[in-house]
Amino acid sequence: MENCLFCKIAAGEIPSRKAYEDEIVLAFHDIAPQAPVHVLIIPQRHIMDAYHLEKGDAALLFHMFEVANKLAAELGIAEKGFRIVTNIGEDGGQSVPHLHLHLLGGRSLQWPPG
Ligand code: 5GP
Ligand code: ZN
Repeated sequence: MENCLFCKIAAGEIPSRKAYEDEIVLAFHDIAPQAPVHVLIIPQRHIMDAYHLEKGDAALLFHMFEVANKLAAELGIAEKGFRIVTNIGEDGGQSVPHLHLHLLGGRSLQWPPG
């Protein structure tokens, strides 16, 4: 989608520190990490947010979690625990309207969020 930051990152038009890539998803390190490990997992195809997922996206959604779990193991945070978050819309704190999972770990995370 034109003028979408994460579509530009997926297309390689804006550089990112990649953690994983295939035809379906891209994972890259967040530019402003909120934890020692902070990776974003996005679909290569533009989907606005989790509210706009459709039945046909079931395999994609599973794959996004599969990649997040694989990276959690590779990046050494699986044993102690980690968080997978997706923000939706303004009140949800979403600043980039392209579906993404935040993979956060490497420190004790607080709950509830602010
Ligand atoms: P949201 O606030 O939409 O849930 O998450 C967007 C995330 O994208 C934020 O954590 C923000 O730091 C990250 N981000 C914004 N712009 C860039 C960028 O150009 N490169 C990278 N790697 N991360 C970005
Ligand atoms: Zn996009």
